[in-house]
Parts: sequence; structure tokens; C-alpha cells
Amino acid sequence: MTKRHKFFKNYFTEAAAPKTAQKICDWAGCSCDALNRAPKSRDNIYNYLWFCDDHIIDYNKKWDYLKGLTAGEIEREIIADTYWRRPMWPLSRLKKYGPDNLQDPLDFIPGYQGIETKQKTASLPQEIQESIKVMEVDYPLSLQDLKKAYKLKAKEYHPDVNSGSKQAEEKLKLINIAYKILETFLQDGLVAR
Ligand SMILES: [Zn+2]
Repeated sequence: MTKRHKFFKNYFTEAAAPKTAQKICDWAGCSCDALNRAPKSRDNIYNYLWFCDDHIIDYNKKWDYLKGLTAGEIEREIIADTYWRRPMWPLSRLKKYGPDNLQDPLDFIPGYQGIETKQKTASLPQEIQESIKVMEVDYPLSLQDLKKAYKLKAKEYHPDVNSGSKQAEEKLKLINIAYKILETFLQDGLVAR
């Protein structure tokens, strides 16, 4: 596998770039080397701005993830995040535990990626990590696990059940690409390039 999908590249070029690449801080008026990246916005988390060590702190303070939402919407955002955006049943009592602290050893929460998956995937190439997030699978996983997850996701984001939503269509594209990348990775132990 030598071809890297064009569409996927748009999403992950920055993420896959080595940290040592020369980038200049995106903070107005700053020309320091930027080694830290941050998502551009809540709806654009795969595009990044780059900042120096000082300005990443300022940016993080300013970056209001929930900006412009009503109290009710914020509540829903928090709840959705707790379940990795897959509301299943009223698990509101789990709200106070952030996703990073949740443990789900018996796999009660579908699609939930616990802290263990994060630790186990930390040393994998960025592209694989991002794909695992897109597919919302645990790691390690078998080809069979991947196929199962893909089937569910393809159904969930199929245009027919999303009244042709552009957002669902884009999500499905991303899922297809993530699937291909993980499939190659699991079959050959190779990263698609
Ligand atoms: Zn700076």
C-alpha cells in the first residue's frame, strides 16, 4: 500500500507532520518557533493552529469550546462528550467523571474509548491514532472487530437515514478512509503511505 488517500491527507497532514517541522507561532505578532498545535474550533478539530510554548497557554485559555451555545446546549454537549456522542441511556450520574477517568472494563458503553486505549495507542503513528478515534474502537483490535465497527458506523451515517445530510456524508467519507487505513495497518502491520 503506497497510496495515501487525498481526502484523508486534508485531515491528517498536520497531525502526521513531525513535531520538529519548522512552524511559526500563529499568535498575532509572534514569530517564535511553534511546537504546539491546537484545534481551530469546535467544528474544525482536525485543522490546527500552531503556537509557541507561551502562546499555546494563552490560546487554550481563550479557546471557548462552548462559545455561543445556550445553557441547554452546553448541558447536552457535556453529556454527549461523556458518552463519546453516542447517547444510549440516561447515564447522567457518570457526568462528573470525565472520559479520561472513566473505566469501562466490561464494555458497557458502546464505542467508549477508555484511558487504556489511549495509553496503548500513544506510540502508534498519528494516522492510526486518529483513525482509531474516528472508528471509536478499542485497541488492540482484530480485523473482525474493525469490520463490525465499520458496519455499525456505515449504517449510522448512511445518507438514507440522515436525510442526505452533508455532515453525515462527510463523516461517512472520513469513516471509509479511517477504515481503509486501519484495515491496511491490521493486515500488513503497515501504515498506508
Ligand atoms: Zn508565540
